[in-house]
Amino acid sequence: MTFSDLGLRAELLRAVEAQGYTIPTPIQRQAIPAVLEGGDLLASAQTGTGKTAGFTLPMLQRLADGPRPGRREVRALVLTPTRELAAQVGESVADYGRHLTLKSHVIFGGVGQQPQVDAIRPGLDVLIATPGRLLDLQQQKHVDLTKVEILVLDEADRMLDMGFIHDIKKILKVLPPKRQNLLFSATFSDEIQALANKLLDRPAMIEVARRNTTAETVDQAIYRVDREKKRELLAHLISQHNWHQVLVFTRTKHGANRLAEQLSKQEIPAMAIHGNKSQSARTKALSAFKSGDLQVLVATDIAARGLDISELPHVVNFELPNVAEDYVHRIGRTGRAGSEGQAVSLVCVDEHGLLKGIERLIKRDLEKRIEPGFEPDPNAKPEPSENGRNRGGGGRGQGRGNGQGRGNGQGQRGRDEQSQAPRRRRGGGGGGGGRRQA
Ligand code: AMP
Repeated sequence: MTFSDLGLRAELLRAVEAQGYTIPTPIQRQAIPAVLEGGDLLASAQTGTGKTAGFTLPMLQRLADGPRPGRREVRALVLTPTRELAAQVGESVADYGRHLTLKSHVIFGGVGQQPQVDAIRPGLDVLIATPGRLLDLQQQKHVDLTKVEILVLDEADRMLDMGFIHDIKKILKVLPPKRQNLLFSATFSDEIQALANKLLDRPAMIEVARRNTTAETVDQAIYRVDREKKRELLAHLISQHNWHQVLVFTRTKHGANRLAEQLSKQEIPAMAIHGNKSQSARTKALSAFKSGDLQVLVATDIAARGLDISELPHVVNFELPNVAEDYVHRIGRTGRAGSEGQAVSLVCVDEHGLLKGIERLIKRDLEKRIEPGFEPDPNAKPEPSENGRNRGGGGRGQGRGNGQGRGNGQGQRGRDEQSQAPRRRRGGGGGGGGRRQA
């Protein structure tokens, strides 16, 4: 099957061709015709599956067929959890829509609002936004959402994890009742199900990768190592194997900074990317990394969400994530769209519970390796991690379920990527906090 078999118009086919894509991915094969028909859609798809084109192409086609927006009006609204994902979706919309005359713009928090207000004023066919900033602009009446024809919730699970449910509910209230809704989520918690039930009307259902499975094309391994030797082992693996483009995950912003500094001192060019960095610092680091000038990008989970670096060869979990599903998201950065990738995790004695939780979730045992010279001490005792929640599986986690920083929606403002504080209530390897109310 080719893209032209999917019923897309010539302008879109030309743009797809310019991207070098010849064969639609499974999600594109299913989502494109479903969205073109105009019905709602519930899609289970991780990043790396080609989901962005899966909703962008048919969305643009439907918009190209309709009337222009009026002042401040928006015809299609794409909500994303993070600035980076918003920017990336914005790029895709611009790329695929380059031969059409549709107007699109991306807005997110952490940058001045005036240029965004100016861009919205004449009206937009597509607005891509993070929920907090959008709600701010809507409440100030800079944007009119009452004419939205298509709503896309991209990475809906992550938006809920980040506490955006209140903002999303407020946004839903100002949208017109009759519209097309597309919901994309990598995982399906009860909360997502509840949102889908409320939002979607007899949706087409698409599931491309089984829930919580990890990409077949990713070679995954665990290096057992002592806590104190992780940095040395990482530098050794990078040099030994000549890894040239490595995305490294740490659990905390502080840890990301420290690791990037230490690697740089060892002449391995590294930069950190996380919510405390300015937007320009993040953009700079990301573009240097994408272009191959920067060897190592050290990121926290939230900052890395939605990064699209095609065919990224190496992902390293310097620490395992506290939430097992994040392992799936992290390694989704590599082996994308059929290319091969390698994901290694450096695991010390503190993390055995987390590892078990991940293996349970992905339903497979990961290969364990020991690098000569980095043999772990068999008598090492587990210690609590930096954020005190490192005893996976044992239910000893702290800091869950206190509802801190959540509540009235005001507290959410501009929070995309501002905080790495755990707000998640999903299962996996961690302790047993109660579920959050959707
Ligand atoms: P996404 O899941 O939307 O983040 O897309 C993952 C990656 O796959 C992006 O780098 C896209 O540019 C790429 N991609 C999307 N569609 C295709 C396709 N049909 N063939 C090859 N690569 C694609």
